[in-house]
Amino acid sequence: MIVFDLICRDGSHQFEGWFGSSDDYEKQLAAGLIDCPSCGSSAIEKAVMAPNVGVKGNQRTSLPPASSSNRENIEPAQSGVPMTDQSLATTVSIPAEYQELIGKLAKAQTKMLEQSKWVGSDFPEQARAIHYGEKDATPIHGTASADDVTELQDEGIDIMPLPLPVTPPKAQN
Ligand SMILES: [Zn+2]
Repeated sequence: MIVFDLICRDGSHQFEGWFGSSDDYEKQLAAGLIDCPSCGSSAIEKAVMAPNVGVKGNQRTSLPPASSSNRENIEPAQSGVPMTDQSLATTVSIPAEYQELIGKLAKAQTKMLEQSKWVGSDFPEQARAIHYGEKDATPIHGTASADDVTELQDEGIDIMPLPLPVTPPKAQN
């Protein structure tokens, strides 16, 4: 079933009509089977829905919405560098010893990655280049999709998931 807001042309009476389909509505309308419940008129049409009033395809102005003199106020977040979500947890109910361990782990990971180069989403490509000897073997870290990870492992490339998420250098500060 489908419901249309209908209106009669004679008295502008609005009412709802239920139909099996849009076609069903067209057929009943063409056959004059739809009557206005207020005045009995069969000059019926679909009422324009309120949220659509005034919204028509080509009414957008081509003028920019604001003056362009404030360019320097544009925030870095709008410059096209995607932000990576951090993984967070509330510390309620996590025993202090684990919090301490995680803290140590975070420090260990940071230490471990000091000699490693952040390559971001280039990781799969760069890991391959190193594996196949196209590039010097330097430690790198970055991001890869689950599919990429599977493919890299299938190719026998040694990679490991980092225990903690890494904030890309660009997103720091
Ligand atoms: Zn009417």
